[in-house]
Amino acid sequence: MNKVSVYICTGCGIDKLDIERLKKVSQEEYGIEPVVHPHLCSKEGAEIVRNDEADGIVIAACSPRVKTNVFDIEGKYVERVNLREGVVWSHDIDEHAQELAEDYLRMGIVKAQKAQIPEPYLQETSKDILVVGGGVTGLTAALEIAKAGYKAYLVEKEPNLGGWLAKNYKALPTAPPYNRFEEPIVYRLIEEVTSNGNITVYTSSTIESISGQPGMFDVTINQNGNQVQFRVGAIVVATGWKPYDAKKLENLGYGKYKDVITNLELEQMAKEGKIIRPSDGKEAKDVVFIQCAGQRDPNHLPYCSSVCCLVSLKQAKYVRELSNGHAFIIYKDMRTVGIWEEFYKEMQQDEGIFLTKGEVTSIYEEDRKIVVEVTDTLLGEDLKIKADLVVLATGMESTLKGLYTVKEEFPDEKTVPYKHIYELHPIKSEEEVEELKKIGHILNLKYRQGPELPTLRYGFSDSNYICFPYESRRLGIYAAGCVRAPMDAAACIEDARGAVLKAIQAVELVAEGKTTFPRTGDIDYPQFFLQRCTQCKRCTEECPFGALDEDEKGTPQPNPLRCRRCGICFGACPERIISFRQYSIDQISSAIRAIHVPDPSWEEGAEEKFRFIVFACENDAYPALDMAALNGLKYSPLVRVIPVRCLGSVNTVFIADALSSGIDGILLLGCKFGQDYQCHFIRGSELANRRMENVQETLQRLVLESERVKVIEVSITDWDKVPKIINEFVDNVKQLGANPYKGF
Ligand SMILES: Cc1cc2nc3c(=O)[nH]c(=O)nc-3n(C[C@H](O)[C@H](O)[C@H](O)COP(=O)(O)OP(=O)(O)OC[C@H]3O[C@@H](n4cnc5c(N)ncnc54)[C@H](O)[C@@H]3O)c2cc1C
Ligand code: SF4
Ligand code: SF4
Repeated sequence: MNKVSVYICTGCGIDKLDIERLKKVSQEEYGIEPVVHPHLCSKEGAEIVRNDEADGIVIAACSPRVKTNVFDIEGKYVERVNLREGVVWSHDIDEHAQELAEDYLRMGIVKAQKAQIPEPYLQETSKDILVVGGGVTGLTAALEIAKAGYKAYLVEKEPNLGGWLAKNYKALPTAPPYNRFEEPIVYRLIEEVTSNGNITVYTSSTIESISGQPGMFDVTINQNGNQVQFRVGAIVVATGWKPYDAKKLENLGYGKYKDVITNLELEQMAKEGKIIRPSDGKEAKDVVFIQCAGQRDPNHLPYCSSVCCLVSLKQAKYVRELSNGHAFIIYKDMRTVGIWEEFYKEMQQDEGIFLTKGEVTSIYEEDRKIVVEVTDTLLGEDLKIKADLVVLATGMESTLKGLYTVKEEFPDEKTVPYKHIYELHPIKSEEEVEELKKIGHILNLKYRQGPELPTLRYGFSDSNYICFPYESRRLGIYAAGCVRAPMDAAACIEDARGAVLKAIQAVELVAEGKTTFPRTGDIDYPQFFLQRCTQCKRCTEECPFGALDEDEKGTPQPNPLRCRRCGICFGACPERIISFRQYSIDQISSAIRAIHVPDPSWEEGAEEKFRFIVFACENDAYPALDMAALNGLKYSPLVRVIPVRCLGSVNTVFIADALSSGIDGILLLGCKFGQDYQCHFIRGSELANRRMENVQETLQRLVLESERVKVIEVSITDWDKVPKIINEFVDNVKQLGANPYKGF
């Protein structure tokens, strides 16, 4: 047990509490003489705390989310007891609030006593960065890495760099006045990359395997049959997009009529200098562009590929300039966001470019022309255009699509049995491996959880797109450009820069044994007491970041540098043999047991006997509670809030412990889950919800009502609703009556 010091701040309204009674808790229950200070965060107050020699320091003051620069002390365990936002700003000060403050102090002291000082996992790491894919995104990424003083390896599967942009005749404008097309930027980028001494380029190369962990990724590439090996610290995936298969668009005439082509095929023609009819090689004078071909369509690509409207405007100009012809663009909506409006306006000025909104009803061949019939036009009349050539504005799919999907793990139904997830293994059979081999891999990761970056809906790389767009579900591996979302080249350049910054942050942090977001800088990592492991595989299957490999028996093989410290493995383990030095089963269980639960047989009054626990995810729910407090919203003082790394880190033993010690109701507040999840650890809140099945069994065994334990999804913006959610839960459980285990 640690030597612990206790500090009680009386600033910011905390002095409304009975400080003498708080002091007594520390003195009489734990034998620790507390230091009371009027404003601990002052220079002088902070100095006193910093000079304290105890291993564990309890600061009973403001929320752990504020003043971190003042109270985070390296080499010590600091437990922040939230008396300000958690008690005085969110409750009327009365006996209940006083009891709440005293319980929080007890919980803080035992947590500090039970914590250990973590040692970082230090290894000899590499700070070099691998970029996969040499399109505009990958080229930019490699250059940015080199400019920041790091060494880059660029691996491109084709013999030439440049990606799709290098196959274009001209490119959209990237500079004012944004009304003329330009030479594709990739040519300049290729020159800069190939002449930069900090970038090693491998063309005609693919990745054979990547093993290890961030800071220590061992990469083997295959270049024209020869193996090359090197070690990198992080990876930027920039493998871009593949065109949607136009053969699926027979309804628009593709594959049926030779003179119906895709926008990519037109780009190729323009590059060769002539816009022609493939059927007879004659110059095409009247060209119809059909927008959203197989896009924004639930039967094909349900999303917008974001550039096709601009591309058709650009290509209409090709028709004007290369064949002095006419272009007709039929669109559902013309999407030219931001500064691209300038380009749109410029094209509208050209009287040879005709644009209308409309619904294409039929396409057929007549007199060696392609007839396009359009209804619901802006002109108010139906159109019948006889064209030499029809160009379909087809869209982009991520190169990750079809390689490895976790879609099944996020079924729209939230009621899928908990067990389902255990049965799911990304690669289930030899046949599946063979199938995947046919599609061709990108990264070939030697991870127990599969060789590629997991994808979500539509096949783009999976990340918490709201907060962390470049992140993948593999620490140290970042996605940028069209592999992540459809975008134009200017956006790809921005994206590459963002991903590179993330990669640099990763190599620097892992070199010090630290993790990345959202627990950036945390050196604590899970410890496994494997002597008692039953090889149930829950931890290895549930770790959202693939941090845990497995030996042939199913015993976890941790890779600490891949770990994001979410605690989901800790929440999963039925044997309770996974623990962090500063987030352990003993620590949380002891904190739960430190709550004073009144015994109805000797305490008077109906109200006081109730006690509730809220496990609040520290990423959204806990800050939402702080914000509610800041805005003066109040909630029941009978509730004890316990911040957790993620709802997935709540082991069901905590719930069993709480129920058997007389807690009347337990609420788990965490992030949204499902396809559009906001969980910072991807699956944590979903797993918590699934674990409720086990909790229901516990409740049944104890003959307790199922309503006593509930999971509710909240986001940080729900701060104004959270107090009401808590109060409603408290009221509902009160209707059930007190937990009969009180006093046992
Ligand atoms: C018809 C058309 C015209 C367009 N015109 C424009 C335009 O004028 N201006 C504009 O801004 N945008 C335009 N776009 C969009 C533009 O093509 C994309 O924004 C751009 O290509 C995205 O670049 P990227 O580097 O992310 O992907 P990509 O261009 O797809 O590059 C990815 C690279 O990765 C390589 N690669 C793939 N898999 C592997 C692997 N396993 N191992 C190694 N390497 C791999 C590929 O060979 C490729 O070189 C157009 C799109 C279309 C459909
Ligand atoms: S803490 Fe999270 S990321 Fe780390 S091993 Fe456990 S489940 Fe995986
Ligand atoms: S969850 Fe616990 S018991 Fe199961 S495999 Fe992992 S460490 Fe072993």
